[in-house]
Amino acid sequence: QTIGDCFDDTVARFPDRDALLSLHQGLRYTWAELQQAVDRAARALLAVGVGTGDRVGIWSPNCAEWTITQFATAKIGAILVNINPSYRTHELEYALKHSGASTLILQGAFKGSDYVATLAELAPELHEEKAPELQDEMAPPPLSCAKLPELKRVVCLDAELALPGMLSWQGLLAHADEVSAEQLAERQATLQFDDPINIQYTSGTTGAPKGATLSHHNILNNGFFVARTMGFSERDRLVIPVPLYHCFGMVMGNLGCMTHGAAMIYPGDGFDPEATLRAVAEEKATALYGVPTMFIAELEHPDFERYDLSTLRTGVMAGSICPIEVMRKVIERMHMQDVTICYGMTETSPVSFQTQTDAPLEKRVTTVGTIHPHLEVKLVSPETGAVVPRGETGELCTRGYSVMLGYWENEEATARSIDGAGWMHTGDLATMDEEGYVAIVGRIKDMIIRGGENIYPREIEDFLYTHPAISDVQVIGVPDEKYGEEVMAWVKLSEGESLTADELKEFCKGKIAHYKVPRYVKFVDEFPMTVTGKIQKFKMREEATHELG
Ligand code: ATP
Ligand code: MG
Repeated sequence: QTIGDCFDDTVARFPDRDALLSLHQGLRYTWAELQQAVDRAARALLAVGVGTGDRVGIWSPNCAEWTITQFATAKIGAILVNINPSYRTHELEYALKHSGASTLILQGAFKGSDYVATLAELAPELHEEKAPELQDEMAPPPLSCAKLPELKRVVCLDAELALPGMLSWQGLLAHADEVSAEQLAERQATLQFDDPINIQYTSGTTGAPKGATLSHHNILNNGFFVARTMGFSERDRLVIPVPLYHCFGMVMGNLGCMTHGAAMIYPGDGFDPEATLRAVAEEKATALYGVPTMFIAELEHPDFERYDLSTLRTGVMAGSICPIEVMRKVIERMHMQDVTICYGMTETSPVSFQTQTDAPLEKRVTTVGTIHPHLEVKLVSPETGAVVPRGETGELCTRGYSVMLGYWENEEATARSIDGAGWMHTGDLATMDEEGYVAIVGRIKDMIIRGGENIYPREIEDFLYTHPAISDVQVIGVPDEKYGEEVMAWVKLSEGESLTADELKEFCKGKIAHYKVPRYVKFVDEFPMTVTGKIQKFKMREEATHELG
């Protein structure tokens, strides 16, 4: 099935139930209302000339139009290109050129950054070229931008900020009447489930983001299975504070809800712990998503107790290593007794492991669960490629329906990640127990090798989390003349607490092996992070190496 056909099925089953609530915009749609909005946008995109396989970029923080664009492009077979809201000129140019986007839909401005002006730096023509009058009732003439030759049209979600060469969102929708519902249905019927429908850039945690090309089949199924593991039905209401541009929001969030008829609730355009708590309380949400740092911020919010979270039941915590302590607090204090941990990556649509809600608590807090339905897993030695014995650490490899079609126009990188037998090499280290539960040890790139000893930062992080004064901690390796690498901890203290480096080292003595005790300790308020809330250890390493000289 294609995403568009599945969407229409959901609408037919639950026309009057809540589909999409964008709280910061004050917008609410039932499935029937959402279908009207989606079909109108789809007909408008057809009218202005968007073809099957054309790339449509979306550069915006979370909003209803993001999701309407997601389903509209899926219905007409255009490939949606998710562009990170924190990208600036250089990265935007890269994403637009690399994907060859012919259409860009963008927000006018967001949190002090002027998207329109940023784009105009690359395409100054937008200041002069005039989009046609709406009354013209014809497709606007294509743009011609010297630097972005493939870009033919730009749609600004904020009409007041649109430049002369841009259409406004309303201006785009005004073209919908030029295309009939039958013409849209004809296009939809030509699409195949394994066509590419989405290019998603990876988070950029370890370096430059890579564009993963995903099919309807890849992401529709993955969204379905993630939500099924949580026991989703049309009665569920999911708060999505994670970005839609990332697969966490768009696949696990939007497609997870859509495939089960559950409601998608957006608390804001950027992450705000209080807005998230309020959304749960006011909308009586049953489920909540987040990366560990978001759950930490919610739990630590001074007004945490004021919000009634008792309707919460389940959700997903994913994206990076989930500290055991945080997991316990989420279960106890946020009532999320059925919370699941997911492991995945953009390249695998994304999820390949998830904890079952009925697994023993011990497994749920210490592992990422078992392999998802219809997927295969193996752990191999990064050096020899041989499968490692149970219990030993190896590189996690997965195979099955969720593995991406490839990196967009980068066969070399694709061949490096997906081998001839179809195995995706994740670059993550993991262990597997007798029952198939997998624990993520960390990224191969983050492993510390000190004097020939392999050290996994996670082990030290989990230990340091048990210190009552520590609210968040990240461990990295820094260059060292004697040992090759030394252990360094970056520590964020809880409100009102104090701790010295020596006290921290003292705390470690006798409890973890001497070579794992951090040689350097740095107290910080923040870690360098991607917009998805992932900590960029490569940036920490750069900064620390520089400081240590
Ligand atoms: P880039 O590939 O650009 O460096 P990225 O790998 O962070 O960035 P994503 O595809 O968003 O981009 O994230 C996938 C990675 O996130 C995984 O390879 C893994 O390292 C990490 N990850 C995801 N879920 C978990 C989890 N539950 N526990 C530990 N790590 C996780
Ligand atoms: Mg990655």
